Amino acid sequence: MRTQGVIDRYRKYLPVSDKTPVITLGEGSTPLVHANRLGPAIGFPKLNLYCKLEGLNPTGSFKDRGMTMAVSKAVEEGTKAVICASTGNTSASAAAYATKAGLACYVLLPAGKVALGKLSQALMYGAKVICLDGNFDVALDMVRELGADGKITIVNSINPYRLEGQKSAGFEVVEQLGKAPDYLCIPVGNAGNISAYWRGFKQYKELGIATSAPKMHGFEAAGSAAIVHDRIFPNPETLATAIRIGNPASWKEAVKAAADSGGKIDEVTDDEIVAAYQLLARTEGIFCEPSSAASVAGLIKHLQSGAINEDATVVCVLTGNGLKDPDMPLKLCQPDLTPVAADVDKLRHQLQIN
Ligand SMILES: *Cc1c(COP(=O)(O)O)cnc(C)c1O
Repeated sequence: MRTQGVIDRYRKYLPVSDKTPVITLGEGSTPLVHANRLGPAIGFPKLNLYCKLEGLNPTGSFKDRGMTMAVSKAVEEGTKAVICASTGNTSASAAAYATKAGLACYVLLPAGKVALGKLSQALMYGAKVICLDGNFDVALDMVRELGADGKITIVNSINPYRLEGQKSAGFEVVEQLGKAPDYLCIPVGNAGNISAYWRGFKQYKELGIATSAPKMHGFEAAGSAAIVHDRIFPNPETLATAIRIGNPASWKEAVKAAADSGGKIDEVTDDEIVAAYQLLARTEGIFCEPSSAASVAGLIKHLQSGAINEDATVVCVLTGNGLKDPDMPLKLCQPDLTPVAADVDKLRHQLQIN
């Protein structure tokens, strides 16, 4: 059987019709892994933790769930090209889905910090990539102007179909767990994904498919924590480039998601993000992007403060694949890659195998 994507699986909950062409790369249906080693490692042995591995989507991030919708609707509406501003993953996803649909793709890349893997993807899928002298927020302003006449479809998360596709992840969590978790921990950049998950959980509860909905705990990076401090950050700073955003597009909807669910949007420092990033890899065998680890950094912070109960069932959303950002592990681990002689006895000694 053909692998079904998000539109085929959740057609009745999405704004599509029989006339909508389905542009899919087989996104969604990502693993929900029981992370049973991490809790004990941080002193919370009763924690019931799961990780949603969104890095296993076709282009390596959750953006594919929204992009299948945005690009399918763009084709239905007859546009010939898509455009986005992106710190990386949106451009990788837009470029792939646009190519699959036979559309052109334009990418405005904010100057500076962009993870190498993401740029490589956009280039390989054949997008027209332009690096802009300005940060993400400036790039998004430019995209709004370039797309204003409707000839080119904007596929940033201000595109209404993106969040509709992304809410499918909330559906999947409920199906995989057999119920809604007590808490959902998730990184917050433009705040689209936390809003989308909340739509999904709310809809499944309204439909009676779930009896409850989780408290939504979103985490911004401290250097770009606009929602937490209720002010725009004109120069957002964090090594977590996917959430380096100073004026989130879905600000209001995210604040409402946190409030309506009884959750909270908080901030985590770069040091906390890096610690969580390493902890996930070393305790669970899960290699995510630094930005993704903000969810686990936030979980740890909220376990320690008591904002999350120590015996709760928690799902952490790991938004992107660790291979996107190959520089970071080398910086952290600083391996000695000088070749060693091929001598078994010496190797046994050096590796301390006894
Ligand atoms: C886009 C992205 C985020 C942030 O999601 P928002 O919807 O902008 O809040 C987090 N992590 C990764 C890996 C991303 O690509």
